[in-house]
Amino acid sequence: MGGSFGSGQVFNEGTDLAFTDPLTGLGNMRRFFDKVDRLIAERAEDPAPFAIGIVDLDGFKPINDLFGRRAGDDILQQVAMRLKAAMDTHSTVTRVGADEFAFLYPLVFSEDAIVDKALMLVEVLSAPYDVGDRTARLSASVGCSLFASGEETTEILVSKAETALYHAKRSGRGRVVVYTREMEEAAKRVTRIEQALRRAVAGSEVEPHFQPIVDLKSRRIIGFETLARWTDRDLGFVSPSVFIPIAEERGIIGQLSQLVLRKATEAARDWPDDLFLSFNLSPSQLVDQNTGLQILSILAKTGFDPKRLEVEITETGLMTDPASAEKIVNDLRAVGIRVSLDDFGTGQSSLGRLREFHFDKLKIDRAFVSSIMDDKPSEHIIRAILAMCEGLGMDVVAEGIEDEAQAKRLIQFGCAGGQGYLFGRPSDAKTTLGYLRDAYRAAARVGGA
Ligand code: C2E
Ligand code: MG
Ligand code: MG
Repeated sequence: MGGSFGSGQVFNEGTDLAFTDPLTGLGNMRRFFDKVDRLIAERAEDPAPFAIGIVDLDGFKPINDLFGRRAGDDILQQVAMRLKAAMDTHSTVTRVGADEFAFLYPLVFSEDAIVDKALMLVEVLSAPYDVGDRTARLSASVGCSLFASGEETTEILVSKAETALYHAKRSGRGRVVVYTREMEEAAKRVTRIEQALRRAVAGSEVEPHFQPIVDLKSRRIIGFETLARWTDRDLGFVSPSVFIPIAEERGIIGQLSQLVLRKATEAARDWPDDLFLSFNLSPSQLVDQNTGLQILSILAKTGFDPKRLEVEITETGLMTDPASAEKIVNDLRAVGIRVSLDDFGTGQSSLGRLREFHFDKLKIDRAFVSSIMDDKPSEHIIRAILAMCEGLGMDVVAEGIEDEAQAKRLIQFGCAGGQGYLFGRPSDAKTTLGYLRDAYRAAARVGGA
């Protein structure tokens, strides 16, 4: 390809170390930028589009941990070989990060064409990898961008591909996404929320709200789930389903979580002590070995009994790094904290997981509860989950119960615990305490009469 640069400068692709990735022998980031720079210069007179993309391996880190670093390197070499073999004579692939590869297709002009090419790469990478006498499977996500005008620099083009990659990663595994302008808007909004959230966490402005969890038959409250609430002065109310994922991605979740847990346990200290408090842990917190210590030190400071605390984790949280998650879970359990599996049935539910990990409780996702009245499959799934929980000695809570008919049906199926708007919406610490005072006073009157 030396001739196509048109600048007269010749360098040897095989031996120029500054431009080569030592592990795979592919070009490196410098090589990639150099190639794109040159192509842009060349297209100054003839602004024909071309395409670039960034391939990122999904879940490479756990594979590295599971099989060992040597095996990880070996897989990366196999990935490199496959990608290289998939290039045609005009195109280039380079290694630009630990598990990131960038490709350049000088003769691909349209969005559809680059999607086809990228899907082909995803396909090529999805075949099993030999690791000694075992095999590993990987998927890959790809973000692409098209060079469309002479105004664009390599940096802009690469940053657009990164934005597209970010969207691909967020939407799941094995996706291909091409950059659009709307993504830029979305990315800007995420950054605005991130900035405001950092301020809010620093200023202790995120509050715990509490939603009751009841014994379905007696309707007695047995505990509360902590749900983070945040209202920003400019952005207004921001839903946790928006800000929690952002906090996770941008590394704020640890601090946010500590703030909310501190406030929540301070509030729950004043409740009758037979009530438990449950608290959500994010997937990224189950990868961070500091999580356990942080929780314990908050409980020690606020004087909240660990036996009254439950942590809710999701299947996704266990998948990223099962060994790390297990260690954290064991540390928590050692001091009496209970562990429940949240949103069961919606993620990549794996029954194997229930053999490996012991959960004290399982929460049936709202999706099944909301369709229980008009959907036979949901009914069967709920019955099967309940039977399984009984066999495994786990407590059960059905989430998202909104009407009496759903509650009745769940009782009929033998479900003991329930949570949902029917029994109470999440409310702040003060309201919750007032509510508990009234409820217990009424109970005391009944009991004393
Ligand atoms: P989740 O842990 O599954 O929490 C239950 C969600 O369902 C809450 O949404 C709750 O308000 C909502 N919900 C409860 N009952 C009903 C009902 O009857 N109908 C309907 N339609 N919805 C109901 P919310 O508060 O918006 O929280 C969303 C998610 O954000 C939570 O799902 C949890 O995964 C996450 N989250 C919230 N607070 C925290 C936190 O402090 N830390 C972490 N890591 N995640 C949190
Ligand atoms: Mg939860
Ligand atoms: Mg849930």
